[in-house]
Amino acid sequence: LLSLQAATVRFGGRAVLDAVDLAVAAHEIVCVLGPSGSGKSTLLRAVAGLQPLDSGRVSLDGHDQSGVPAHRRGVGLMFQDHQLFPQRDVGGNVAFGLRMHGATRGEQADRVRELLALVGLPDAAGRAVAALSGGEQQRVALARALAPSPRLLMLDEPLGQLDRSLRERLVVELRELFGRLGTTVLAVTHDQGEAFALADRVVVMRDGRIAQSGTPLEVWQRPADAFVARFLGFEN
Ligand code: ATP
Ligand code: MG
Repeated sequence: LLSLQAATVRFGGRAVLDAVDLAVAAHEIVCVLGPSGSGKSTLLRAVAGLQPLDSGRVSLDGHDQSGVPAHRRGVGLMFQDHQLFPQRDVGGNVAFGLRMHGATRGEQADRVRELLALVGLPDAAGRAVAALSGGEQQRVALARALAPSPRLLMLDEPLGQLDRSLRERLVVELRELFGRLGTTVLAVTHDQGEAFALADRVVVMRDGRIAQSGTPLEVWQRPADAFVARFLGFEN
């Protein structure tokens, strides 16, 4: 479904994405792990069309996306800091992407109700965003990203601001939800426990390159190099 070929992004002469090759199959859940500054968010922004490549390419369903603007790529991106619209209520936030896709008011209302139920906030549509807890806001952001049924859902630290017990619960719910919907997911986290619980495949990034890609078990049992091993917390 998604393929990156030698995708490269430079800032001030430094390659923040350095000739990255990555393929994500339909219905696959891939988690990108890596230290702060390794290029994880840049990778998602490049796929979403928010960050132009300096060289290489991004293809979706075999079509080169260079020159295709973000809103025509059919991908959803939930930002690291979730960026809800504070002046809109919960329903207005979730409906945002639907309006852009030309859904009628009735269709929007039905879909919003369905999505909020899905993320466990069935009665929240009329609530003010500012009155929600951090975890509730994160669920609303997730519903908003899911709303237009993107062919690829990208999540940047989707559970980043939550406490451990809530993260552990949500990660199980998300995996179940994506499986049920058949969603293809590319998610970023720096929490390996989260990645291992959520992902079919884990990609470890270091300095703009992919240090290792494999199933959680493969990466855990056979770290590709000393960097990956250290990142996973093994002493060596
Ligand atoms: P974190 O885990 O902290 O979110 P990350 O892996 O998502 O980190 P990126 O946000 O992709 O990292 O940034 C990778 C590198 O690129 C960082 O060193 C960052 O400072 C740099 N960078 C990102 N965006 C820009 C920009 N617009 N201009 C200049 N440098 C940038
Ligand atoms: Mg980031």
